[in-house]
Amino acid sequence: MSANILYGLVYMIILFSFITIMFIVILLLCYCSVHPSLQIGNLATAEQNAITLELGLDEATLDKYPKLIYAQAKLHKNKANSTASCCSICLADYKDTDVLRDLPDCGHLFHLECVDSWLKLHATCPVCRNSPLAKPVPLEVSH
Ligand SMILES: [Zn+2]
Ligand SMILES: [Zn+2]
Repeated sequence: MSANILYGLVYMIILFSFITIMFIVILLLCYCSVHPSLQIGNLATAEQNAITLELGLDEATLDKYPKLIYAQAKLHKNKANSTASCCSICLADYKDTDVLRDLPDCGHLFHLECVDSWLKLHATCPVCRNSPLAKPVPLEVSH
């Protein structure tokens, strides 16, 4: 008789513990999915992505910038400071067959691969920090 009561008691305790643990787990899962700090974390990541997209140029924009062979650049660019003999990004001397990118705003030249990977991260010239992005048309001041 007393053994039966003890058995029932142990069974009740185990059942109660199981229900309690399940309840805590469900509560914890709900708490995690709506936890404000996690949402702020997601928001910050999204914001970071937006900034990265905003700063870099995409492939389509890069393709619009003139590219030329160094041998051609030497012929066409007569200004002393616009044609450097080496790439300011990788510091390697240009070879006549190297393909260069001519930044439209400032006229600085770089290896196509060097400046393309740079411009995908930063939309500015690595040398003079001018943005090669088309500048907004200045508003006409009425007199
Ligand atoms: Zn280079
Ligand atoms: Zn420049």
